[in-house]
Amino acid sequence: MIKIKTPAEIESMKPAGALSKMALRRVGAMIKPGVTTLELDRVAEGIIRMHGGIPAFKGYGGFPGTVCSSVNEQIVHGIPSDEVVLEEGDVVSIDTGAILDGWVGDNAWTFFCGEPSREDRALCEVTRDCLKAGIKQAIPGNHLGDIGHAVQELAERHGYGVVREYVGHGVGHDMHEDPNVPNYGKCGRGVRLQAGMVIAIEPMITLGTYDTQVLPNRWTVVTADHKTAAHYENTLAITEDGPVILTQDDQGPWCELEGGKE
Ligand code: MG
Repeated sequence: MIKIKTPAEIESMKPAGALSKMALRRVGAMIKPGVTTLELDRVAEGIIRMHGGIPAFKGYGGFPGTVCSSVNEQIVHGIPSDEVVLEEGDVVSIDTGAILDGWVGDNAWTFFCGEPSREDRALCEVTRDCLKAGIKQAIPGNHLGDIGHAVQELAERHGYGVVREYVGHGVGHDMHEDPNVPNYGKCGRGVRLQAGMVIAIEPMITLGTYDTQVLPNRWTVVTADHKTAAHYENTLAITEDGPVILTQDDQGPWCELEGGKE
């Protein structure tokens, strides 16, 4: 069942979204060769708790981290570890979620550790643009398929893979509410969008195949061909005035790709 939020409820979701973005932005700024993903996780947890929030992922289904840190061929659900030491050229997808005032904010960004390869950089730029294209379709009267189609069309135009098994979702008091928000679809198909829906759009796009595998840790999802994946996500409300991105702080809804420039 899709839970429609009132304008006042949407307003009250903004602090959770802002805190999620703040944690994501701070962690992104730490990424450099030699840093472990466990260090990133500790900083994210500290920021969220310092502001009165609760890490949304920690303990969710038994997940051990505050962040999901997914490096290179890892698509999502990478487990923070002191054994994962970031190296020059890595692409690092960070997903952070915070619960504040009983509401959830959920967002993700793929950061560069040093200088990525040209093809990894292009993948990330297109995946970020896929997120923007999906958000543009999140307006009353459109359908879920319009969002998926916009993401899929842009990714496939560049020859990239669109992950099928993992999708966006409704967000509210729970991190995963109805509906599912696929990154593929047909225009005009699926649930009709209406004002008051709050969803996370999160394209997961790959350099090669969209087939996935789950590592023996039972969490971490990797590309079956071990080629690079990218992942960007915002939580947003569908309103009569257009999409309102809830996961934004005083610096806005986007992170920098690197070094202060987008
Ligand atoms: Mg999500």
